[in-house]
Amino acid sequence: MTTFFISDLHLCAQRPAITELFLDLLRREGPHADAFYILGDLFEYWIGDEAASQDEYRPIIDGMRRVADGGTPLYVMHGNRDFLLGAQFERETGCRLIQDPIVVDLYGTGVLLMHGDTLCTDDHEYQAIRQRVRSSEWIEAFLRKSIGERNTLVRQFREKSKIVSATKSPEIMDVNQQAVEATLHKHGVRHLIHGHTHRPGQHVFDLDGERAHRDVLGDWYKQGSVLRCDAQEWLLQDIPLSRLNGPRNAIPAE
Ligand code: MN
Repeated sequence: MTTFFISDLHLCAQRPAITELFLDLLRREGPHADAFYILGDLFEYWIGDEAASQDEYRPIIDGMRRVADGGTPLYVMHGNRDFLLGAQFERETGCRLIQDPIVVDLYGTGVLLMHGDTLCTDDHEYQAIRQRVRSSEWIEAFLRKSIGERNTLVRQFREKSKIVSATKSPEIMDVNQQAVEATLHKHGVRHLIHGHTHRPGQHVFDLDGERAHRDVLGDWYKQGSVLRCDAQEWLLQDIPLSRLNGPRNAIPAE
């Protein structure tokens, strides 16, 4: 049996083939998987659960619902783009929202799961913004605005962040190794799985004289990225868009 970890799908109407690739994964693996963990940024952005009623999200919610109804647990963690996913989304999809960070038991191994943005401690500017927008005051004020106003704000926010990110060095936007080690210590585990940085990889390093592991999930901009874990091995794999080119799922690649 297999447990699947994915993150940073950034699903949106502009990348329909990626949405189809996600639904294809759920259809293929959902019936016999032990669980799916989505570690943040399932959506490009999420302005509140009322958005779930929009047509754009219907196939995604229905696809997740089918997996959950089939008895396979779907766990969803907030990312920095979709931290407003809430109770209505949980109800409609049948998923369970999980805390960041959280330790889970994976076939007898304790594993720390995170979105990953809180480990990017060198990016002081990002951490300051994160703290502001995650406050209950900010969230309440945002959710009081109309859907149109929220969409406008998100667009402005993303334009600004694109400009700012372009000026930052790649090292600043990656995780800080001391933060990784301190977080593993705090939780008493030697395995970490996270996304956010869009730098897929399986890192092994020394922690107090023993091996420790950091598996980083990739983004879904041009392909899928999935970590498949069973009791024997953890495999980080790409799912190419060409998977969809069968007669049943003919969808033009971007
Ligand atoms: Mn992210």
